[in-house]
Amino acid sequence: MNIFNLKRMFKIFKSRFIKSKILAVHENDLEKLLISLNLINDLKEGRISCNTCGKKINLNCIGGLKKQKGSVIIFCDKFHCISENK
Ligand SMILES: [Zn+2]
Repeated sequence: MNIFNLKRMFKIFKSRFIKSKILAVHENDLEKLLISLNLINDLKEGRISCNTCGKKINLNCIGGLKKQKGSVIIFCDKFHCISENK
């Protein structure tokens, strides 16, 4: 896959996210998405907790994110939290 395709895929992922669907992306794309949402620093500095269980989330244990009523919901990678946010 070339860079053009990756960029295009990322655009598609982003537009899906904006339409409030849960996103499953490759790690690198996830990081780009978090940067574009201005969440990356909060995440790296431990200021973001799982919306479901309250566990602190970092890049290694992020389960996913979704948009809900205009704000971004982030949840961890526990099975329970991912299925709660489907
Ligand atoms: Zn959780």
